[in-house]
Amino acid sequence: MIVVTGATGQLGRHVIDGLLRRVAAGDLPAGQIAAVVRDRAKAADLAARGVEVRIADYSQPQTLAGAFRSGERVLLISGSEVGQRGPQHQAVIDAAAAAGVALLAYTGILGGPAADFQLAAEHKLTEQAILDAGLPYVLLRNGWYNENYTEQLAPVLEHGTVVSNAGQGRVASAARADYAAAAVAVLTGSGHEGAAYELSGDVAWSFDEYAAEVAAQSGKPVAHSSVSAAQRQEILKGAGLPEPFAALLSDVDTAIERGLLAGTSGDLARLIGRPTTPIGQSIAAALTLR
Ligand code: NDP
Repeated sequence: MIVVTGATGQLGRHVIDGLLRRVAAGDLPAGQIAAVVRDRAKAADLAARGVEVRIADYSQPQTLAGAFRSGERVLLISGSEVGQRGPQHQAVIDAAAAAGVALLAYTGILGGPAADFQLAAEHKLTEQAILDAGLPYVLLRNGWYNENYTEQLAPVLEHGTVVSNAGQGRVASAARADYAAAAVAVLTGSGHEGAAYELSGDVAWSFDEYAAEVAAQSGKPVAHSSVSAAQRQEILKGAGLPEPFAALLSDVDTAIERGLLAGTSGDLARLIGRPTTPIGQSIAAALTLR
């Protein structure tokens, strides 16, 4: 059985889709996919497609007791509740270890222990917890999603500006679907145990280049406005973001300026057996949806 947590999230849905495609292609037996979700209603479509739905909340360790069984291959998709993920992920790891799973794959952050920015802290704790648990593991250290940017095109087109405090820093992003395909490859393949994959896009782009691409594709004037971290935080707060989140986002851009999200190891393309999705393709997809 292959078990995916966070299966009703955006990455999780791509992973389930990928696994179901393997079933349809005859590469994977039917009835071997389970989704761990906290909201059964949200997973109704997954159940309708033959996925076994198990209910558990990362924040309630007792609910995780029945989430995994001996010999299963598990993908732990990192939670979205920043600040709570240390104990949450620890609870999932404890449950997986107690069940005796055959593999625990974890969606961490590009750079692993070398990622020294705020958002990376909980991922580093989680990686260490996995090592401490002594489980067979695979670390999927995900770089940034193309969609982190392309889902924000409305204000960019409205104001004609991509605002960052990343300067000339570069981002080797890839589509969510690419990272999901890597997870599917690891969950359905062999020989990955103990690996730490540095997953990122094939090409690292700058915000100047991103703005130019949005302008070219949309036919509207769009430029990159490079501001200081303090200015960016004020802009984000002005747009209604809570102060801690504004600080977190400007800290990410500082990390981008320092090159921490620009690594192009090629691990992602190798795992998925094709080039990663260029940022331009994700921009085109987002513009089509508007
Ligand atoms: P989503 O926010 O779409 O999905 C997060 C998933 O985590 C959801 O399924 C959510 O459940 C689940 N979840 C959150 N808290 C709990 C909890 N307490 N118990 C059980 N499940 C929980 O994010 P994505 O799918 O886009 O990304 C997956 C993860 O990757 C994120 O959660 C985050 O850790 C990280 N991330 C990575 C980015 C990158 O660029 N690499 C960017 C943003 C996030 P539910 O469906 O019920 O809400």
